[in-house]
Formats: sequence, C-alpha cells, structure tokens
Amino acid sequence: MSSLTLRNLTKSFGKTDVIRGVSLDVEEGEFVVFVGPSGCGKSTLLRMIAGLEDVSGGDLMIGGQRMNDVQAARRGVAMVFQSYALYPHLTVRQNMGFGLKVRKVPAADIARQVGEAADVLKLGALLDRYPRELSGGQRQRVAIGRAIVASPQVFLFDEPLSNLDAELRVHMRAEIAALHRRLGNTMVYVTHDQIEAMTLADRIVVLRDGRIEQVGTPRELYERPANAFVAQFIGSPK
Ligand code: ADP
Ligand code: MG
Repeated sequence: MSSLTLRNLTKSFGKTDVIRGVSLDVEEGEFVVFVGPSGCGKSTLLRMIAGLEDVSGGDLMIGGQRMNDVQAARRGVAMVFQSYALYPHLTVRQNMGFGLKVRKVPAADIARQVGEAADVLKLGALLDRYPRELSGGQRQRVAIGRAIVASPQVFLFDEPLSNLDAELRVHMRAEIAALHRRLGNTMVYVTHDQIEAMTLADRIVVLRDGRIEQVGTPRELYERPANAFVAQFIGSPK
C-alpha cells in the first residue's frame, strides 16, 4: 500500500492555477524530494498534504485514507519549515512537547517521547534553553525534534536547511539521512539545492509551473533527463 497518493491534485488561488494536476504514489518509508524553481508550487503542494491549504481538485490519500477534508492535526503528518517556527516563549522541552500537550497526552508520556527525540538529535543538554539561546542549526534540530515527537506517518520538510550556512547544511543533511535510516518513515522533502536532492532522495520529482516534469531515482534523472529543463536542475550535461 502506498503511504501517500496524490491523484490529479490541483490548487488555484483565485484565478491563478498553481498546482495543475499532480499525480504521484509514494511508498511506505520512501524518501521523495521535490525540486523546481522558485514559485513552481513546492510549498503549496506540501501545505496541501499537511492540511494547511484546501485542495481545489483531485484526491489526496495518506495511509490509504482520503484526506481532502481531514483537518491537519488528524492526518498523521508533521512538517518542518524553513523558518523553524518555534515558540519563542517556550523552552526546547516545551516546544518539543507542545503538540502532545495540546492533545492532552499525559505528562509522563510527553516527557518520555521528548527524551527519546532529544536522544536521537543530541538535544539533551539544550532542553531547558529558549530558542533565542540557540544557534540556527540547533533551532532547526529542535524543529525536527518536534516533528519526531509527533510520530507522524509522513514527515514533510520545506527547505529545512536553506537558512543555514554551507558547512552546517552538509552536516544537517547527513543527520536527516541518518534520521530516515533510523526511523524508516515516509519523507517528502522540498529543496532547491540539487546536491541535497541527489544525496537524500530515493526518488526525485522535478516540478515546473505546478506540473511534474519527471520522476525518477537520482541516477535515472542524471543519466536520462527527459528534457533540458530537468538536465539543468539535476546538473547533468544534456
Ligand atoms: P515554491 O515553494 O515552489 O517557491 P509556492 O508554492 O510558494 O512556490 O508558490 C507557488 C505560486 O503560488 C507562486 O506563484 C505564489 O505566488 C502563489 N501563491 C502561493 N501562496 C499563495 C496565496 N496564499 N495566495 C495567492 N498566491 C499564492
Ligand atoms: Mg517554497
């Protein structure tokens, strides 16, 4: 069974068609990376999967269930944003446990789940700090930790590393790859960094103007790009 299915998905803002019929099956545990130029609809697509934007047309299924009208909190997804989106007045521990607290999960269970996620991301020493007391990389690690605590079926990442400097990006990229190996969740990841896409993806989806240009493994796209646009994005010589 597919973990995530998009079937002829469309999205319009007023008269502007932003997503123009996207169909894709993502397998359980697969790491799928969306790439494409700025404005091609990557964030909109992720936000639709997350339930932060309505679907204009088509079907969206997660774990075999139609999700078009299911509210965000009940979809079994967690999203990591470029801008971290941490609560400034809450500690790392409180930020990571916030979603569970809202769902009235008992405090002891929250503490255990936050502790486990902190172990995975080596955040143990930072749990009582506030976001302003953290570096950019540490903040993004907290944002990822918060997503882990939600134990989602599907992780969504929207350019999570683009605010970090080059060295840290390489480091965090390796952490995300290790996280995927360890947790085995389905991951849908947006980036405009082709090296990030090539190193992380099981399959890459090249998006252009709200449509899929090509889907394939990094090697397939590199060796057999469907057209010059894909070749340019993947960095192959065609
Ligand atoms: P990407 O993440 O690939 O850069 P986005 O999904 O953010 O692209 O945006 C795709 C297109 O949709 C852009 O042209 C953008 O201006 C438009 N768009 C995104 N959100 C809205 C909105 N809330 N209202 C109107 N237009 C929007
Ligand atoms: Mg975007």
